[in-house]
Amino acid sequence: MTKIVDHIAKATKPLFSFEILPPLKGESINSIFQGIEPLMEFKPPFIDVTYHREEYIYKTREHGLLEKKTTRKRPGTVGICAAIMNRYNVDAVPHIICGGFSKEETEDALIDLHFLGIDNVLAMRGDPIKTEGVFVPHPEGHAYATHLIEQVSEMNKGKYLNEEMQNPVATNFCIGVTGYPEKHYESPNLSSDLKFLKQKVEMGGEFIVTQMFFDNARYFEFVDKARAMGITVPIIPGLKPITTRKQQNILPRIFHIDLPEPLAEALEKCETDAQARQVGIEWCIQQSKELVQYGVPVLHFYSMGKSEAVKAVAKEVF
Ligand SMILES: Cc1cc2nc3c(=O)[nH]c(=O)nc-3n(C[C@H](O)[C@H](O)[C@H](O)COP(=O)(O)OP(=O)(O)OC[C@H]3O[C@@H](n4cnc5c(N)ncnc54)[C@H](O)[C@@H]3O)c2cc1C
Repeated sequence: MTKIVDHIAKATKPLFSFEILPPLKGESINSIFQGIEPLMEFKPPFIDVTYHREEYIYKTREHGLLEKKTTRKRPGTVGICAAIMNRYNVDAVPHIICGGFSKEETEDALIDLHFLGIDNVLAMRGDPIKTEGVFVPHPEGHAYATHLIEQVSEMNKGKYLNEEMQNPVATNFCIGVTGYPEKHYESPNLSSDLKFLKQKVEMGGEFIVTQMFFDNARYFEFVDKARAMGITVPIIPGLKPITTRKQQNILPRIFHIDLPEPLAEALEKCETDAQARQVGIEWCIQQSKELVQYGVPVLHFYSMGKSEAVKAVAKEVF
């Protein structure tokens, strides 16, 4: 299949792409296809599939004792990627994370991806376990995305962890990395975060996908600062149309982003989710149009499995 950077290089206008989440364990893959199909008319050259690490769940047992269990609520990232490529003949970009993986397990997962013909990955540290709050690396894994990116880059040169290997095959991954126009929540400031972003690119990151943002000025400032620091790779903006009233509080809490005052004020005035959805879609259309004018390589939407709002935006922009 094709590398994301080659899709971008070939394109004569901004591309359309989106991100989906694997379904909850036990649910059918048809929910994924139902989310993708309405968006295929906009010809996405690639679709991202998120990766979800294990979670702890606590069950109450006799005498009030709590039993702690580990479970992955949304497995299936690799299978979904293979199914997408097979069914739609578009590139699927699995997210790969440090959390919960030893380096050896990462190597094995990358071998699977390589054998499946998956040529792109979006490499990141990953979120902490939901109930833990703080990211704790696997004892034999990576603490930061930089080191994971380095491991993939080494495999691209044919260097595996076991140095005694005979004639190892080089993988051929195009590596994407994550960026935060409003800085990563653990970073003391944007400059510090950008310094590490630069390291991720130096380690082999070939394109950047940003966290969602609602104020284009933050993206423009981020791109200007990144370019001034010598980061030259494509910076793909991440966008999400707001679809409910609650999201004006949920999105800042989960993603550590701000909603600009005019958007927040318009949402506060909404009495129903249908009204909030209209405001969210309108806002996202305006954002998208301005970003297209600015010359972004791709508009990347966080569909979160719900395609109608993204479709409503894409219809106005593509
Ligand atoms: C587009 C996108 C997609 C995402 N998809 C997923 C997903 O599928 N699954 C998931 O679990 N999470 C996902 N996330 C969330 C992401 O994993 C979290 O935001 C995580 O907290 C940070 O990951 P990262 O790779 O950006 O971190 P890193 O780049 O490792 O940075 C983490 C923090 O440490 C700092 N830092 C980086 N390197 C160093 C270093 N060498 N020394 C000291 N400090 C350093 C950075 O400034 C930052 O504050 C996604 C995020 C984005 C933007």
